[in-house]
Amino acid sequence: MSPAYRGFVGHFFLALSLFLLLLPGYAYEILSDDSLNSLPRASEDYDIHTGSLLSPILRTRVPGTEGHEAVLEHFANFFRTTLPKWNIELQNSTSTTPISKGKEVPFVNFIASRDPPGAPVGDVGRLTLVAHYDSKLTPTGFIGAIDSAAPCAIIMHAMRTIDAALDAKWTAMRTEGLDPSLEDEHGIQILFLDGEEAFDHWTDTDSLYGARSLAASWSSEFYPAMSTYKTPLSSIELFTTHWAYQSLAAAEERLRSLGRMKSASDQHWFPDSKKNSHDVIPLGGISDDHLPFLARGVEILHLIDFTPFKGFPPVWHTIEDDGEHLDMATVEDWGLVITAFAAEWMELEGYLDFEQQTKSQTESQSKSRRDEELEFEAEAIRLNKKTEL
Ligand SMILES: [Zn+2]
Repeated sequence: MSPAYRGFVGHFFLALSLFLLLLPGYAYEILSDDSLNSLPRASEDYDIHTGSLLSPILRTRVPGTEGHEAVLEHFANFFRTTLPKWNIELQNSTSTTPISKGKEVPFVNFIASRDPPGAPVGDVGRLTLVAHYDSKLTPTGFIGAIDSAAPCAIIMHAMRTIDAALDAKWTAMRTEGLDPSLEDEHGIQILFLDGEEAFDHWTDTDSLYGARSLAASWSSEFYPAMSTYKTPLSSIELFTTHWAYQSLAAAEERLRSLGRMKSASDQHWFPDSKKNSHDVIPLGGISDDHLPFLARGVEILHLIDFTPFKGFPPVWHTIEDDGEHLDMATVEDWGLVITAFAAEWMELEGYLDFEQQTKSQTESQSKSRRDEELEFEAEAIRLNKKTEL
């Protein structure tokens, strides 16, 4: 992100579909207290040394390097073993950088999505959660824990937490004689974008390499003629950001009042939540991955901490932005809030059954351990092939 601003525990943004609110009978469905109380925290999986979600991302991952490739494989492996029903895509591009001496550097955006079963491509609007996964070239050894390893892990945790409930909801619809592909036109999508950081000094061309490429590619890729949405970009066309902001604020407040949050509560994360949208002073100018999408008309809620509120943590863009400097209570709490918001958006009240989920995850994990070596090798080959294209 632009060095002119200071920011929150990493930076990530949410893009939410406007269309979905306009569906007849569609309603954002808030979770019950019981459901909020049952949401798991990802404590162990966020362990910075051994956690299955976060620790593999806490390494240097500059585009075109071995660390970068390993993190990409970690994402692919996570979705393949833990969320096998998700569709994975890689979007590749190359660009020279101010320090590459004319050489093309590869950038790989990681895209994973899940739609109602049988829904035609082009008819599904997707709640889209986005973080960048590349790390900054300098200072040497920079890890980028807040920027943005932790947000990637937070999103992975949220998607893992709601996945079984998506199945349960779509199965229940079938049982009731409804066809999820026709009745439920909303899906969910995550983007882990590459090349957000500048290689030299932040400029319009030395930054946001992956986001610029993906926004351009998605705006020129067309769905079949009769589709609800014209392009992948318009399928993340959104509703009002202030509404999403207020929904997140409500989730934070309810989780705090239920005693589920561990971080300090002296300062609420969403200070404008009680204001009407026209009373909120827009604070523009933060350069981040949302810009190429915003420029093409996608409605964005950008979650970032900046002055006059808390401001960026002092470790931002320094060698100290590492696992040891993460405030784990805050990271875990964000995991809860994002999970609650995604579950409410996807209308999963009544379908979150974590006892059942733990059982089936344990089964699939023991299977995946058996197959791990072979599958991992195959994935590495597949990723390499795609990257070469
Ligand atoms: Zn940064």
